[in-house]
Amino acid sequence: MTDRSAIQLIDEEKEFHQSALQYFQQCIGNRDVGLNYHVISVFGSQSSGKSTLLNVLFNTNFDTMDAQVKRQQTTKGIWLAHTKDVNTTIEVNRDRPDIFVLDVEGSDGSERGEDQDFERKAALFAIAVSEVLIVNMWEQQIGLYQGNNMALLKTVFEVNLSLFGNNDNDHKVLLLFVIRDHVGVTPLSSLSDSVTRELEKIWSELSMPIGCEESSLYDFFDLKFVGLAHKLLQEDKFTQDVKKLGDSFVMKGTENYYFKPQYHHRLPLDGWTMYAENCWDQIEHNKDLDLPTQQILVARFKTEEISNEALEEFILKYDDSIVPLKSSLGPLTSQLVKLKEECLTKYDEQASRYAKNVYLEKRESLNEKLNLHISGTINEFLETLMEKLWENLKLEVFSRDKATTSFVESLAIGKSKTEKEFNESTGVFKKLELLASDDEITSKFSGDFEEKIKQLRDVELKVKFNNIRKNMIPELKDHVIHLLSHPSKKVWDDIMDDFESTIEINLSPYYVSKDNYDFKIGLSDDENAKIYKNIRVLAWRTLDTTVHDYLKIDTIVSILRDRFEDVFRYDAEGSPRLWKTEEEIDGAFRIAKEHALEVFEVLSLAATSDNVEIAPDVPMADEENGEDNEIYQDNEGIFHSRRFAHILTELQKENVLDQFRRQINITVLDSKRSIITTRTH
Ligand code: GDP
Ligand code: MG
Repeated sequence: MTDRSAIQLIDEEKEFHQSALQYFQQCIGNRDVGLNYHVISVFGSQSSGKSTLLNVLFNTNFDTMDAQVKRQQTTKGIWLAHTKDVNTTIEVNRDRPDIFVLDVEGSDGSERGEDQDFERKAALFAIAVSEVLIVNMWEQQIGLYQGNNMALLKTVFEVNLSLFGNNDNDHKVLLLFVIRDHVGVTPLSSLSDSVTRELEKIWSELSMPIGCEESSLYDFFDLKFVGLAHKLLQEDKFTQDVKKLGDSFVMKGTENYYFKPQYHHRLPLDGWTMYAENCWDQIEHNKDLDLPTQQILVARFKTEEISNEALEEFILKYDDSIVPLKSSLGPLTSQLVKLKEECLTKYDEQASRYAKNVYLEKRESLNEKLNLHISGTINEFLETLMEKLWENLKLEVFSRDKATTSFVESLAIGKSKTEKEFNESTGVFKKLELLASDDEITSKFSGDFEEKIKQLRDVELKVKFNNIRKNMIPELKDHVIHLLSHPSKKVWDDIMDDFESTIEINLSPYYVSKDNYDFKIGLSDDENAKIYKNIRVLAWRTLDTTVHDYLKIDTIVSILRDRFEDVFRYDAEGSPRLWKTEEEIDGAFRIAKEHALEVFEVLSLAATSDNVEIAPDVPMADEENGEDNEIYQDNEGIFHSRRFAHILTELQKENVLDQFRRQINITVLDSKRSIITTRTH
C-alpha cells in the first residue's frame, strides 16, 4: 500500500482529475470505510520540505526535490496519497483509519503573479475538504512576517469567514504549525506565542462580513505547534520528532489527538470525491463556495443513488419471491415485510452517514416507493379475497333455509362475515406498515361491496315483483271483464272495490299498515314506498288497458243487446216468451230497451255511484319517456283529451245507440213476423 504513487487530483491547468475515483477504489477495495477516514493538507513555501515531511510521517510517495533532477521543480498541482501507515513511536495494533493526504505543490516564493491565483485556490480547496491543515514554516521565518505564509493565511481567514461566517454549525479546522529546522535555542512556546500574536493581528485587521463582527479566530480554528529538528543535520532527532508527531494522529482518545470529530466534514468516503470535485468547481469558477450547501447536495445525490440501488434490488427479487405466496396472508405479509426490511436496511447502512435530514427525507420517499410497489400486490390479494368472500355471501343468502331465515337476515349475516374477514386482512397489512393508510383501499372496496349488495337486492326484488305481477295482472283483468260483461248500475263501485282488494291480497305477505308495505329485502321506507307505487302504477295500467280494450263500441252494443234480450225474450222465470199480440211485443220492447239502456251511461263514463269520475291516484304516464297519455291525436288529426274515466266520445255513443237500435228493431221485427207467420199457417 505504501509504495503506491501519489496521484494528481488537480493539475497545473486547474483541472480536477476523475481518476481520483479509481484511486480511491484501489486504496479501499471492498472495505466499508464510511466516516472512518481523515483528510490532511499541507501548505507552505515552495521547497520548505513539505513533501519530505509527509513521506516520512505518512509513508507516502510524494515527489520531493531530492528525487528530482537538481533544483528542478516538482510538478505543480494538488497531489493526493492514501495511507494507513503513520510513522509513530508507539505500537498501534488497532485498526488504523484511512488517511488521505493532500500535498499542495505551488510556486516558489519568488515567482508571483499568475501563480498566486493557484495558491489561493489551493488553500481554499484545502480548507474546504480537510480536517487538519499543516502549515510548514522555517524557524527563521517566524517574526519576520515573511510575506508568503502569512499573506496566504490572511486569505485563508478571509475566505473561511465568508464560507462559514454565518454558519452556526461548530465545525473547525486544526491549523498545525510545523516549525522546521527548530534548533531549540528559542523554545517552541515563545515561537508559538509569536505566531499566535501574528495570527491574531491578521485576524483583527480583517474586514469582517456583516453578522460576524464579534467572531474570534478560535471560533473557526484550533492552533497547534510542533517543532522538528533539521532533517539533514540532525537526521535521528528529526525522525524521532516526526514519529512523535505521528503519535498525535493515532492516539485516539488522548488530549493530543488531532482528529477531533469536530473537524470532520461528516461525509462518508463514497461521497467525498463528489464533494471535493464540486468544491473545486465552485472555487475554480470563482463562485461563492457554500460548503454546507455542497454537503447537502452531495448527500442528496448519494442518498438518491443508494436509494435507487436498494429499490432496484428490491424490485429484482420481488416477483420471484412474492408470486408463489400471493394467496396466503401470513406467508405473503412476512415475505413482504422481509423484502422491505432488507431494502431499507441496505439503504440505512450506506445512507445514514449523510446529513441526517436528507437521509431521513430520502428514506421516507423510498418507503413510499416500496409501499406503492407493494400496494399492487395487496390490492390483488384483497380483490381475490373479496371475490371469495362475495361467493360465500351469495351462498349464505341463496342457500339459506327460507323457512327460518329471511333474505334480510341472511344478507346481514353474510355482510358482517365479509366485513370482518376483510377488515382483518387490511388490519394485518396496516399493522405491518405495508399500507400507509387503508382509507383509500377500504373506501374503494366498500363502494364495490355496496354496489354488489344493491345488485343482489335488485335481483331479489325483481323475483318478487315478477311474482306479484304474474298473479295480480290476470286476476285484475278477469275480475274487471267479468264485472263489465254483466254490468250493474254500480259496476264501477264494484270494480274499484275489487281493484283495491286484489292489490291488497297480492301484497298481503308484505303488509305493514294501510298503504305501507315492507318487501323484506332490507330497503328503506322510501324505497319500499316507491316499489308499492310502482305496483299501483302497474295495476292502474292493467285496469286502464283492460277497460278500454274491452269496452269498444261492438262490445258495448253486444252487452246492451244481451241485457235487452234477457228481458225481451225471457220472462221473469227465465222461460222464452211466446208472443201473441203485437201490443204485447211493443210493451216488452219498451221495458227491455229501458232496462238495457240503464247501463249505457255507466259503460260510457267510469264514475262511482256518487257520480265522481274515477281517476288513477298514481301518474299513469311513462315518466321516463316523457310520454303523456292524457292527450292523443286521432286519425283525423284531432287532439283528444284521454282520461281513464272517458270511455266513449259523444260520437261513439251515438254510434252505439244507432247500432243498438237497429239490432233491437230487427229483433222486434223478427218477433212480429213470427206472429204473422204463426197466424198465416
Ligand atoms: P517541498 O517543495 O516543500 O515539498 O520540499 P521538498 O520536500 O521537495 O524538499 C525541498 C528540499 O528541502 C530538498 O532538497 C530537501 O532535501 C530539503 N529538506 C527536506 N527536509 C528538510 C529539513 O528538515 N531541513 C532542511 N534544511 N532541508 C530539508
Ligand atoms: Mg513538494
